[in-house]
Amino acid sequence: MKAAVVNEFKQKLEIKEVPIPELEYGEILVRIKACGVCHTDLHAAHGDWPVKPKLPLIPGHEGVGVVEQVGEGVKSIKVDDRVGVPWLYSACGECEYCLTGRETLCPDQLNAGYSVDGGYAQYCKAPAEYVAKIPDNLSFEEVSPIFCAGVTTYKALKVSEAKPGDWVAIYGIGGLGHVALQYAKAMGFNVVAVDIQDDKLELAKELGADFTVNGMKGDPVKAIQDKVGGVQAAISVAVTKKAFEQAYQSVKRGGSLVVVGLPNDELPIPIFDTVLNGVAVKGSIVGTRKDLQEALEFAAQGKVKTNIETQPLEKINDVFERMVKGQINGRVVLTLD
Ligand code: NAD
Ligand code: ZN
Ligand code: ZN
Repeated sequence: MKAAVVNEFKQKLEIKEVPIPELEYGEILVRIKACGVCHTDLHAAHGDWPVKPKLPLIPGHEGVGVVEQVGEGVKSIKVDDRVGVPWLYSACGECEYCLTGRETLCPDQLNAGYSVDGGYAQYCKAPAEYVAKIPDNLSFEEVSPIFCAGVTTYKALKVSEAKPGDWVAIYGIGGLGHVALQYAKAMGFNVVAVDIQDDKLELAKELGADFTVNGMKGDPVKAIQDKVGGVQAAISVAVTKKAFEQAYQSVKRGGSLVVVGLPNDELPIPIFDTVLNGVAVKGSIVGTRKDLQEALEFAAQGKVKTNIETQPLEKINDVFERMVKGQINGRVVLTLD
């Protein structure tokens, strides 16, 4: 099968023929139709994070397609089902986190396109119990980003504990941010969108942001404090430290900063302000299988629409180059076949 492979960090991905994965007990084989390009895939290809991915690696954790084969012991999925293979590729099912509905914290989890091969290929195998079925009315291309960008931001908004009517700030209107703001609107929040590029903010307005701030042209913290007196929750899905600092400062008393973006950096937080203002700082990592089902349902109901650009798998190196420069509006989805 054809796949895009990371052989070495910071080198171009190689498009090459590799063997189709062989199924083990409980696994299914998915013929991939589309796979979104998450900024995480770029971090993986660059070896940015303290925990490194396997090498060689087939990235991709928004891989969606049709089930071509089911292995021994598979009950929940059948041939021809439409499914997606998310970042949470598998978890142990037995630890305190798995047993308490917090499977994304499982220390024994595997991650698609990181610790195991993912969706940048014609085929991807996965444990049947951890894939999600795709609603009938959504195309492969449009649903693909829900499998990471969608579920991750939906979950982050839940983690924020903001309530309908509250103001929420989304820092970074990229692949994650452009769906984050739609989930936020659908969940009843007022939304301010912050980015450093006008075209992203144009998209944010089209998608329903109540107001937008360009962090290159003005001070988002001041704009937010002046206009709404601070937000109940700030979700940072940006890729630079500056955005996290500003997101923290945008939060009002008793509010929260939810840290989602993953630049390999530190977040200096003033202890005095955090204590006196009772601000919570929380990390949020993707979402559980249940979160994913819910996130898919919002998309099926038309409440969240992904802004996508399709490109053939072979274009992945160009797509990564554009991502580094911030030249992607919404999500690029790689297509196969
Ligand atoms: P992306 O490249 O599509 O979007 C990043 C956006 O941040 C861009 O629109 C860019 O213009 C904007 N940005 C950069 N600097 C900014 C600043 N100072 N202020 C405001 N905006 C700024 O990336 P993505 O695919 O949306 O991923 C974003 C980050 O989230 C990555 O680090 C990725 O690894 C991480 N991520 C985390 C999780 C998780 O579960 N926690 C899941 C998926 C992705
Ligand atoms: Zn992702
Ligand atoms: Zn576990």
